[in-house]
Amino acid sequence: MVKIQFPDHLLEPIKNFLHLKERELEKRKESLAKQDPFTDESRLLNNASPDADANEQFGHATTEALKKEVERKLIQVRKAMAKIKIGKYGVCDHCGHMIDTDRLMVMPEATLCANCEKKKE
Ligand SMILES: [Zn+2]
Repeated sequence: MVKIQFPDHLLEPIKNFLHLKERELEKRKESLAKQDPFTDESRLLNNASPDADANEQFGHATTEALKKEVERKLIQVRKAMAKIKIGKYGVCDHCGHMIDTDRLMVMPEATLCANCEKKKE
């Protein structure tokens, strides 16, 4: 079996990119947590009009959806980073084939090849 591995000089910038992306996503997660009206303690003290309550519900649902999205991306980025560590970066999780380098250029966090990604949907 041929061991497919990206040369270090190619992996280095990818690693850096993923690191930056991870940090960025973590920051985003934090700021979303702060935006969530449900984490605002003052709302417990002035639970005034039903109107404000509806607004809070809406705000909560929106930040909740955004948080999930950020969480999903974070997992993806971490998966790609773990694959670099074990020397399997660029190998499709599903079929074991190499992921198109063109695809990795646009989506360095990809862990599935284009074909498997399509099948997943
Ligand atoms: Zn595949």
